[in-house]
Amino acid sequence: QIRKNSFMNIKLSKVKKSKISDVDFSNLGFCKYYTDHMFICDYEDKSWKNFRIVPFEDLKLSPACTTLHYGQTIFEGLKAYKNDNDDILIFRSDKNAKRFNISAHRMCMPSIPEEIFTDSINQLLNVEKDWVPSGKDNSLYIRPLMFAVDPYIGIKPADKYIFMIICGLAGGYYSEPVNVKIEKKYTRAISGGVGYAKTAANYAAALYPAVEAQKEGYHQLIWTDGKEHNYVEESGTMNLFFVINNTLITPPLGDTVLDGVTRDSIISVCSELDIKVEVRKISINEIIDSLDKGLMTEAFGAGTAATVAPIKTIGYNSKNYNLPKIDKSDYSQKILDYLNKIKFGKIEDKFGWVTKL
Ligand SMILES: *Cc1c(COP(=O)(O)O)cnc(C)c1O
Repeated sequence: QIRKNSFMNIKLSKVKKSKISDVDFSNLGFCKYYTDHMFICDYEDKSWKNFRIVPFEDLKLSPACTTLHYGQTIFEGLKAYKNDNDDILIFRSDKNAKRFNISAHRMCMPSIPEEIFTDSINQLLNVEKDWVPSGKDNSLYIRPLMFAVDPYIGIKPADKYIFMIICGLAGGYYSEPVNVKIEKKYTRAISGGVGYAKTAANYAAALYPAVEAQKEGYHQLIWTDGKEHNYVEESGTMNLFFVINNTLITPPLGDTVLDGVTRDSIISVCSELDIKVEVRKISINEIIDSLDKGLMTEAFGAGTAATVAPIKTIGYNSKNYNLPKIDKSDYSQKILDYLNKIKFGKIEDKFGWVTKL
């Protein structure tokens, strides 16, 4: 099962019986089902070793494992799709590999060669081929992660790490347009911090403010900069886009915003779709002013899970501002449609984003 062309020496232990017959493929949800196997390897004595694909199962860790106490852990998220010929297409895993190493660097963790990152995904998918669901909008969600395993109480970078990959099934992700609240009090990321890394701390710190907003009837927050709470940065775990005066606007990167693969892909495809894009700071004033004047026609989040998630209502200072209903001619819908066609191999992959397994 392990392809001969892998430069890694991967040991494969297969499950005795697949769980795939338990899956209700008409109702996949998001990571309700994990696949049969996982990829795992160890970082010891300054090198990656013991590459193996084993049954998806619980891990055994020391209760003193530094990750559990100090959070030296990072992750990634990407998807694979099945086209009409049953080919498996992986979207931009090279970009996730680069971002993983950027996160690793910030968290004082070892980097992983990009070839190991992408090839371990390919090898795992090769074993899990049957799990990649066919059907419009269905996909396999791939979750690589790395964490420290030293049994050690005390603060220092660990010596030993695990890198692993698990996969979950993802169904058509139509979500109702969401209500979001512009957050003025709590901070997701500050300059000099870890906002640009896909590391646990960012998500743990965001839980409380998000739960508070949910009590007020919002689904998500729009995070503002940590210094003045004046410029918008991200929404939940998605990058943000606004359409004002027929121009698509998104905040710039920097060390407080996650460099989303979806964000980057959207900016790139706009040239193909004749959509004018501006990457620049957007203040709360500009947002409220353009909502008041009816100049803002769309707002949406962008991320791997949903690709684009339209926003229905923006709340600010106890006032709610509504956006127009989604229309087929919206930029968000044209972009979603174009990206889906690339991901499912229905149009030419001009950007070289798709790898066929
Ligand atoms: C993962 C993530 C995104 C979206 O990145 P994609 O690569 O497009 O999935 C945006 N913001 C945050 C905070 C994230 O964790």
